[in-house]
Amino acid sequence: MFVNGVWEKGVRGETFQVLNPATGEVLADVADCNQEDARRAIEVAHASFPEWASLTAYERSRVLYKAHQLMLERREQLARVMTQEQGKPLRAALNEVGYGADFLLWYAEEAKRIYGETIPAPRAGQRFIVAYQPIGVVAAITPWNYPASMITRKVAPALAAGCTLVLKPAESTPLCAIEIFKILEEAGVPSGVINLVTASDPRPIGEEFVTNPLVRKITFTGSTATGKLLGSGAGAHVKRVSMELGGHAPFLVLKDADPIHAAKGAGLVKFLNTGQACICPNRFLVHDSLVEAFTNELVSRVQKLQAGNGLKPGIAIGPLVNLKAVDKVERQVHEALSKGAQLLTGGQRLTEGQLSNGFFYAPTVLGGVTPEMLIYREETFGPVAPIIPFSDDDDFLAMANDTDYGLAAYVYTQNLAAAMKTFEGLQFGIIGINDINPTAAAVPFGGIKESGLGREGGREGLQDYLETKIGGFAI
Ligand code: ADP
Repeated sequence: MFVNGVWEKGVRGETFQVLNPATGEVLADVADCNQEDARRAIEVAHASFPEWASLTAYERSRVLYKAHQLMLERREQLARVMTQEQGKPLRAALNEVGYGADFLLWYAEEAKRIYGETIPAPRAGQRFIVAYQPIGVVAAITPWNYPASMITRKVAPALAAGCTLVLKPAESTPLCAIEIFKILEEAGVPSGVINLVTASDPRPIGEEFVTNPLVRKITFTGSTATGKLLGSGAGAHVKRVSMELGGHAPFLVLKDADPIHAAKGAGLVKFLNTGQACICPNRFLVHDSLVEAFTNELVSRVQKLQAGNGLKPGIAIGPLVNLKAVDKVERQVHEALSKGAQLLTGGQRLTEGQLSNGFFYAPTVLGGVTPEMLIYREETFGPVAPIIPFSDDDDFLAMANDTDYGLAAYVYTQNLAAAMKTFEGLQFGIIGINDINPTAAAVPFGGIKESGLGREGGREGLQDYLETKIGGFAI
């Protein structure tokens, strides 16, 4: 753990192992912290808050610029750590480090633009000003699927705003968090401003985050189930929360789309991170006139994807995070097949040769998926593309919106009016129109319905770390 500028083992002095999901080998032992450690980290963050908050925006900005530069200098090293502990192919890891660094740069710039305003008063002799101040100590919990960028997406705006922070990274990927904290330390973040608590059991840490009155905000990225738990706990203590939760993204191929172009996009975005992204499409709703062309192209692309250890060149499909994840994918595929879906490619665990030591599942395409199947509603978080044909008689918007989630959605069409109507009608926070990468540090990322609260990135991502204060002046 990293508390008050010192790397330590935690009060119990215990450690837990970090495994490589591609090979099963032990990569490192890291501190296994408990609730007491979390409490101490929070107290340190609280004590460090007044000084950090009182620096000028320019001073805080300089630290973030430096961190951005260092993160890019260490891109290759950090990407290797990520591939080893999380499994994504090295090229994807390099991309993620770049995306993660983008948040440091964006918020280095935004730190200087936390503008207030004046509001005309209804009474003579009165003036109103609005000022934004840092919210205080932030407790952050991050997931394993994007173990670097999900950290900088929270830490950068928190630091820009003048907040101090305690982070608990996911138990399977603490090594990226450790590397990022080293970068932040070297960039000049003062002792105590950022604190890292690694733990094999997240529950006592979460409990302390929720109940400790010194924590003013909880920012969480992870599953909807955990988000509900933390959100309801934080609600009982009237703490601010930001939540980026699960998704069940529809991928719409409308009748005037180019099915080949759509299949190319589908192949890329579905199998990104082996399907382990909250914005991965989970349902491919394809107009029946295009199903054949779309499916043939997608299947032929998927059959070329090679699974294996992401450190090897040419690998497109890394392992899943653990055995539970493989079991879930297998259960969804078997259930869909038993209810009449067609297996077009894949559909089994990969256990040949060296793959037997890791958690691999073949990239899979299912045809003829219907609403009765589990995969139609349940988030897969794995490499399975279920194709659901629709006809002119079907209300494709209602089908796309038929989910409790509302994170990302994708639409392929060459018709401008259809694109606009679909964009407006989809109940999702992130819409890609002929675009499989509708994200950037500069745009607000987040979901509606059970996919989350608040936005990360962009100008809005900073507002979540600020309190609004008004001053009424009688003169
Ligand atoms: P997933 O199922 O994708 O792993 P989780 O929501 O379980 O998603 O994990 C996301 C993050 O939430 C991880 O850092 C994990 O340790 C943390 N987490 C899980 N359960 C709790 C909890 N009860 N309290 C606090 N953090 C938790």
